[in-house]
Amino acid sequence: ASAPEMLGVGKLVASYGSVDVLHGIDLQVRSSEVVALLGANGAGKSTLMRALAGLHRPVQGGIHLQGADLTRLGPEDIVRQGLVLVPEGRQVFPELSVRDNILLGAFLHPEGREARLEEMFVRFPRLRERQAQRAGLLSGGEQQMLAIARGLMSKPRILLLDEPSLGLAPKVIEELFQALDTLRQEGLTVLLVDQMAALALAIADRAFVVEGGRVVAEGSAEEIAADPALAKAYLGGG
Ligand code: ATP
Repeated sequence: ASAPEMLGVGKLVASYGSVDVLHGIDLQVRSSEVVALLGANGAGKSTLMRALAGLHRPVQGGIHLQGADLTRLGPEDIVRQGLVLVPEGRQVFPELSVRDNILLGAFLHPEGREARLEEMFVRFPRLRERQAQRAGLLSGGEQQMLAIARGLMSKPRILLLDEPSLGLAPKVIEELFQALDTLRQEGLTVLLVDQMAALALAIADRAFVVEGGRVVAEGSAEEIAADPALAKAYLGGG
């Protein structure tokens, strides 16, 4: 399992004001891998995801995507390079229709967007049924599918998912992870943050555990799932 590297993060330091919250993160995601990023609340996972997407400027370290240096690029150029974040809290545009929300994801690649929209409707049939409705009227699970569809419209080389299961009912979470598993089987490269650690590890190839802004463990998903100390800390609720 040594596909070429897709995403490389080296010695990444990020701060809020004078307080460092990431203390030199090293992390790699290989092509077509699903990598889970685990850690307690406040460990720095969201800050890392936002830094990767260009929404939070790191103070040190580097971010590379298939050799291209993303470290100092803005959010739009990072999407153009193929790194796409589905942010925590979904952040759909509630007043816009479902269809328009999806199409917004194609703003950098408008060519062929109708065909890709159709692909999204095949993947998420519920979104087809509700395409004319305002996105704010969708259930939480549907909004999450919508946020993922919007992300996929940007033709990601790597998709970052920040807490996709947050606030969803168990049955809906199951559906969500089935959709993610399908994406994995199709070969999409994914970096996934989720409190449902057991579910995340079940679809992941490898995992990194972050504590206090540092990577404290990494390994295959099986190794991390079998680690008694980590199981106690993170797998209880998942
Ligand atoms: P959660 O699952 O709760 O989002 P997390 O692992 O994603 O946790 P972050 O949100 O990245 O953690 O937060 C990392 C640290 O940075 C925490 O100590 C948090 O209090 C702090 N922090 C986050 N956002 C800000 C901010 N805007 N200003 C100051 N400190 C912040």
